[in-house]
Amino acid sequence: MYKRFMPREFVDSVYDVTPEKLHALGIRGIITDLDNTLVEWDRADATPELMAWLKLIRDSGIQVVIVSNNKEARVKHFAAPLDLPYIFQARKPLTNAFQRGLQLMNLPSHQVLMLGDQMMTDMLGANALHLHTILVKPVAQSDGLVTKLNRRLERRVFNYLRKKGIETWREK
Ligand SMILES: [Mg+2]
Repeated sequence: MYKRFMPREFVDSVYDVTPEKLHALGIRGIITDLDNTLVEWDRADATPELMAWLKLIRDSGIQVVIVSNNKEARVKHFAAPLDLPYIFQARKPLTNAFQRGLQLMNLPSHQVLMLGDQMMTDMLGANALHLHTILVKPVAQSDGLVTKLNRRLERRVFNYLRKKGIETWREK
């Protein structure tokens, strides 16, 4: 039950995802969500800490692509200064944008990690293509409108996991 929404792993932030860990898993590329995964959904630019993390990851030979459901203006403004390829209005959990991300990196799905903060979009879509999946704790407590609805569904999954005694990072 709820398996389609489940990540392989829960982490507190992207900073727990290290090149060493990724190389050990055979990961060569990351498809990452933007809002509330890399930075707060209402923060326009990358933080110095995030830039340092991206450099570390990319210097280790791992490619990174942003796949976001947000609008072009938001995603471009964020990604272009970082020289990161990006896909906007991705319509996750539909799998088209994930497939385009794989094509951009020229990697098979088993060598790619999906990093995201939402089960209903990021994890569901990535699981459908059998990517490796890691769910990060949302950077901000607040969300945009559509995300608020997805969070209601997500809470049910977390309640189920808690009943089953499966450990996540979320206590409530
Ligand atoms: Mg997000």
